[in-house]
Amino acid sequence: METDKLDIPVIWPDYFEDCEQCIDRLRETLTGMDGMHGVTIDASHRIIELSYDKDLLTFEEIKERARLLGVTVAERFKHKSIQVIGLDCPDCAMKLETAVKRLAGVAWATLNYATSVLIVEFEPQKIELKAILKRVRDFGYDYEITGAVEEPRAKGRAPRSARLVLTFISGLLLGAGGIAWALGASPTLFSAFFIASAVCGGIFAARTGFLSLRGLALDTNFLMTAAAIGAIALRDYSEAAAVMFLFSLGSTLEAYTVDKTRKSIKSLIEAVPTSASVRRNGRIETVALEDIEIGEIVLIKPGEKVPVDGTVVDGESTVNEAPITGESAPRDKFKGSAIYAGSINGRGALEVRTTSTTDDNTLARIVHMVEEAQAQKALSQRFSETFGRYYTPVVIALAVIIGAGGPFLFGGPYHQWIERALTLLVVSCPCALVISTPVAIVAAIGNAAKSGILIKGGAHLEALGDVSIAAFDKTGTLTKGKLSVHDIVPFNSHSVEEVLAAAAAVESRSEHPLADAIVRKATEEGVAEPHVSFFEAFPGKGARAVVDGEAIYVGSRRLIEELGIDLPGTTAIAELLSHGSTVVYVADPRSLWGAIGAIDTLKENTVDAIRRLKTVGIRRTVMLTGDTAQTGRAIAKQLGIDEEHAELLPEDKLAKIRELSAGRNSVAMIGDGINDAPALAAANVGIAMGGAGSPTAIEAADVALMADDIAMLPYAVDLSRRARRVIRQNVSFALIAVIILVSGALLRYVTLSTGVLGHEGSALLVIANSMRLLKPRNV
Ligand code: ADP
Ligand code: MG
Repeated sequence: METDKLDIPVIWPDYFEDCEQCIDRLRETLTGMDGMHGVTIDASHRIIELSYDKDLLTFEEIKERARLLGVTVAERFKHKSIQVIGLDCPDCAMKLETAVKRLAGVAWATLNYATSVLIVEFEPQKIELKAILKRVRDFGYDYEITGAVEEPRAKGRAPRSARLVLTFISGLLLGAGGIAWALGASPTLFSAFFIASAVCGGIFAARTGFLSLRGLALDTNFLMTAAAIGAIALRDYSEAAAVMFLFSLGSTLEAYTVDKTRKSIKSLIEAVPTSASVRRNGRIETVALEDIEIGEIVLIKPGEKVPVDGTVVDGESTVNEAPITGESAPRDKFKGSAIYAGSINGRGALEVRTTSTTDDNTLARIVHMVEEAQAQKALSQRFSETFGRYYTPVVIALAVIIGAGGPFLFGGPYHQWIERALTLLVVSCPCALVISTPVAIVAAIGNAAKSGILIKGGAHLEALGDVSIAAFDKTGTLTKGKLSVHDIVPFNSHSVEEVLAAAAAVESRSEHPLADAIVRKATEEGVAEPHVSFFEAFPGKGARAVVDGEAIYVGSRRLIEELGIDLPGTTAIAELLSHGSTVVYVADPRSLWGAIGAIDTLKENTVDAIRRLKTVGIRRTVMLTGDTAQTGRAIAKQLGIDEEHAELLPEDKLAKIRELSAGRNSVAMIGDGINDAPALAAANVGIAMGGAGSPTAIEAADVALMADDIAMLPYAVDLSRRARRVIRQNVSFALIAVIILVSGALLRYVTLSTGVLGHEGSALLVIANSMRLLKPRNV
């Protein structure tokens, strides 16, 4: 586990100066992030000291989270993703990662074989990107970086197809040698075939192996080459040929299959057209996507793929947004609707004003985020990497001892001991184990992304698979968040109009869904619009403002009781509450004016989704709401939610999450991502809904559902549980393979070539098992 301790200057809004709560909230939010060990805030110097686990948390994520609270964290590191090209063995990835990490000025590096993406955080004052890229090249790999590359591209390694051809030739030569041997041809002839086969199969391995030797990191390529050379020295030419052919075949196949997994998400972007019809100077021109500017008008014909993010300015249609949200039911689009690149237009023609550039549209952001997520390592990956760190040197040492000392210690022919030693070298990379986790994770995260579920890293995927309690925010998550006022009960000789006008005046400044409903009602009824000043919101309770010279409070029972006003227990109010309405009270500082009942509609498929959560293994469902107990209970009952906790302020929700996750429970909090940020952060997994419409929601959460639809949740849970199972199978299988190969080699049951076969075969099996996660499954 690597932790980082940092002092980082921050910039926050001026009101933070005398807002202790704001600073507490910042501390709470950051502390709640998974992997954060300590947060100390030095408010007078505006410095935060962070210590966090870099495997679970990136500096980038911390920055984003702080940004949601209006705090800018100083840029200290540059963050770069580099696509490494030509990585063909899992342990090679680890070797390169270590080498990059060792560079002075590199704060953090991670390279995942399954994605081949090297992510580095470095201090630009201390090291240039060039030096990092040079290290990559020194190891014999090519690279690609998104964005500008100042460096001329490296000449690069031979393309994969060349490797495939050579492997094929190597196989043919091996076969020819075998036939020559069987037909009793001269030893010179079949030996020549075998040696040629070994050279064809081994040339790439030898090259990379040599480079890794220069980098003082012995990778599989080197060990396999050494084994083949050893076999040739023992005059066992057929073994040498078999080793190199099998290794070459195995790693080519691995590279192909892993590539397929890797690319599954990129195919989303490739599905978007490269040009679009744009209205310019009164004419319609076909313009390449990257030349379209923000604010231009793009024409979309019926049936076309939407090329840009934008707002509809003319036309009506239904659009299938499945590539973005995973939801295939078409959505109506009309003037003012937001529309996303990658979705498929229905029967109507649309004119759309673009709202982002091509490389920054929602789809591109999703793909980028998924790629970064896939590159991040999961917790269980640490186990296999740590195992590899000890296992490899131990086996190599064992090989040296046996090869050099075997004949003296135990007697027996010298060449047998050398052969044992070489076999040990061949199996000294626990490659199947190293890829047991990452390939599964890449496949699962890719699959999820295609269904509109963004899982922001392997650690989050594993955590989601472990969840036993699901906690939901009520408004906007379980309900539509679109309330409507249906009843107004005036008190103390005020009129209905007065109550509504005063409430609407206060709420005109608020952004709460309830506020919306009240203002809408007032507009419908055409009540007067009094003068408003001194507005103040009390999160989770309500709001206050001065209306026509009088202080008016609008909010929950709690808010009114805090004013010292006793609420009457009238039957009218009890009636409202029993129907699941939310009741909002309107009062001046001395007396109650009235009560307003508003009702929210449940989302259609919520009941079904909650039920399915149970079938995929969630044990308890909980609703957390700021609303009253009666309303909470009424809604929980309608939805089939096990328990509800009501009248919670945002900080109470946080405390409740902590309480629920006590013991061995793992809790997922599902919310709308913005006002519930602390609770989302405190949960083992924070899940935000409606990511397509609000980028901030995606950023706040560990998992984001792009569609504002809870129906995707059971799928996400099921997928992550499947991923956990696959990972467990892979790890146990790989461990067993390692044990069999090593003991087999020691007992001479496993020869050099069967050793290679076992080594490559187990890696391929692990990959094949992981690829099952690419397939969708109905839950
Ligand atoms: P939830 O947990 O259901 O999302 P909130 O925490 O946003 O609800 O709000 C809790 C309660 O506080 C609401 O049910 C309402 O009584 C009151 N409240 C919050 N904001 C407002 C507002 N702007 N106007 C009126 N009442 C409000
Ligand atoms: Mg809410």
